[in-house]
Amino acid sequence: MFAALAGWLRRQQIPCSEDAAIAPHLYFRIGGTVRLLVSPESGAQRLAVLQKLAAAPGVPWLVIGGGSNIAFSDGLTRAVVVLAPAAAPATGPRLEADGQALQVDGGMRNQPFLAWCAANGAGGLEFLSGIPGTLGGAAAVNAGAFGRSIADVLLGADIVDEQGNVRAVDAGHFAFRYRDSSFKLGRGAVLALRLRVTPADEAQIAGKARENLEYRLRRHPPYRLASAGCFFKNPLAAGVKTSAGKLIEECGLKETAVGDLAVAAEHANFLLNRGRGTFADLQRLEEKIRAAVAARCGIVLEREVIYVSEDGVKY
Ligand SMILES: Cc1cc2nc3c(=O)[nH]c(=O)nc-3n(C[C@H](O)[C@H](O)[C@H](O)COP(=O)(O)OP(=O)(O)OC[C@H]3O[C@@H](n4cnc5c(N)ncnc54)[C@H](O)[C@@H]3O)c2cc1C
Repeated sequence: MFAALAGWLRRQQIPCSEDAAIAPHLYFRIGGTVRLLVSPESGAQRLAVLQKLAAAPGVPWLVIGGGSNIAFSDGLTRAVVVLAPAAAPATGPRLEADGQALQVDGGMRNQPFLAWCAANGAGGLEFLSGIPGTLGGAAAVNAGAFGRSIADVLLGADIVDEQGNVRAVDAGHFAFRYRDSSFKLGRGAVLALRLRVTPADEAQIAGKARENLEYRLRRHPPYRLASAGCFFKNPLAAGVKTSAGKLIEECGLKETAVGDLAVAAEHANFLLNRGRGTFADLQRLEEKIRAAVAARCGIVLEREVIYVSEDGVKY
């Protein structure tokens, strides 16, 4: 079935490769090969691929945005992985007439998007400053920082559902929770988002975005090191949101390593792939941390980062 799909993609002139390495497409650089990797060059190609996959029963598939919150198994993942279109969307973000909302393609990267927001006086999204990835990915995981997240600003979206139907949905369709939505482990795809914005001037927006980025640069490991951001969700302890990083640090686990995977010195909730880290190493380090925190604090940490099994299932 994968070979037949690859043949169809080639006839459509949609770039794809079989048995392709996935790690180079992931910030964490963890994963083996995937049976079919598709790299649409435009929004139209992306839609054609998603509709073809939805009509191919029994073929596991998933979409990836920036690949900044996900790790794959070490072996062969028998699935089709669809990357975000490489080229900038044909239509850039569009501010609505009243200046209170905008539309943006789900494949757009957060940082160029924020630069556009500043230049166009669209404020209120500066919490995205320094969060890698795409807006579609940010919506799927309800990304956030500084006490705000996508759930606070998403008004609606155009999606492709699992049956291949293109639909306009409202924010309720995402069933947002802390770093979670119905898309995080689901299979549909977000094509475009409609976001609430607050009119502001360019200097104010750019200044806030820079301030947020500088805060992160002071406290997080350098961006050039391979990670997926915060690995565990911040847990509730006696009903109060607690820093997972602080709990891990209190267990004395900073710089603890399994193979090439290590707890960062700068922030204990960042796990770093120092070069040749494998999925197996990652799972061993994850369990070591979870066991230590559970033993010391009685709290079982929940993973924030997404794993993909060899059957192509996100979990
Ligand atoms: C250095 C660093 C710092 C980080 N800091 C933060 C932070 O402060 N806050 C935070 O929340 N996260 C943070 N992250 C994690 C990550 O950057 C965010 O979760 C980001 O929003 C993920 O977007 P992405 O496009 O890379 O998604 P991916 O990792 O590609 O995918 C994540 C999930 O979204 C799904 N998905 C991707 N695109 C779409 C789409 N178009 N439609 C439907 N589903 C889709 C995927 O199938 C997968 O389930 C950080 C990561 C790194 C490496």
